[in-house]
Amino acid sequence: MEEYIINKEKYEKIKKNSLVIYYSLKYDLFNINNQNVEMAKLYDYIKRYNGEYKYIVFYFDFLGGKLTLKQSDKLVCSIKKLERIRKIKNKIKYIYLKSGNSPYEQFVTTSAYILNIYYKKDKYEKLYDSICDYLDDRVVKTNACGFKDDKCIAKRDTNCTMGCCHHYKNKLFGVLYEKELNLCEYQKDKKCSAKCITCKMYMCDTLKKKGYNFNTRNVILIKRYFNPLQKIVLTTSFFTPKDKILRRINNLE
Ligand code: SF4
Ligand code: SF4
Repeated sequence: MEEYIINKEKYEKIKKNSLVIYYSLKYDLFNINNQNVEMAKLYDYIKRYNGEYKYIVFYFDFLGGKLTLKQSDKLVCSIKKLERIRKIKNKIKYIYLKSGNSPYEQFVTTSAYILNIYYKKDKYEKLYDSICDYLDDRVVKTNACGFKDDKCIAKRDTNCTMGCCHHYKNKLFGVLYEKELNLCEYQKDKKCSAKCITCKMYMCDTLKKKGYNFNTRNVILIKRYFNPLQKIVLTTSFFTPKDKILRRINNLE
């Protein structure tokens, strides 16, 4: 993601040749060439003026507040619409970010970032990785599952040290006749080696009660970039490695 995310120094250097699309969270408004532009008018404005500039810079100023899920959704919709402007396709779209540390900022920066990606297949991979990062930031990095001595919060009073990374398998009939608790084959060194997005979204009842709930409506990148069949794949492909899930996604394009 880093290649299109720029620092202040680079921003100062290129801003003269760039159409700077400034968004202020404080005023919930875009400002371009010292002119306020409502979110709904962004598409028309960029279509009209982008030809005069070499680059496009999305300057997201998220300071002075915390971006909400709803605001991130509105921003993603406005940015996604820009995909339709043919003339910006070959221009580099940079992102300059002043973060207010809301987890939803990632939805917005990713939607701007993928305007740089030409092939659908690569777009899906970037979206997939970004969603996984978002989920890991919310769950793994904060130890939401409360792992202590290898036991998660939901299984503290049991002998289970696998969290929910297991399936029940009957030695003769596989998953049809569940009998034995088996550690998922993709768990290596107590980590998931499969990068399975479906498992990452899964929250048990204990976590749901704590307020963790991820679905195709509140993970905005899923909501806005995947069709209904792809959404089914994303939410039902448990115990499945990333490349296999992405293959299914691309086949449903
Ligand atoms: S989702 Fe629930 S069952 Fe699974 S590891 Fe986390 S706390 Fe344990
Ligand atoms: S694929 Fe799912 S069940 Fe298997 S290790 Fe990864 S997260 Fe756990």
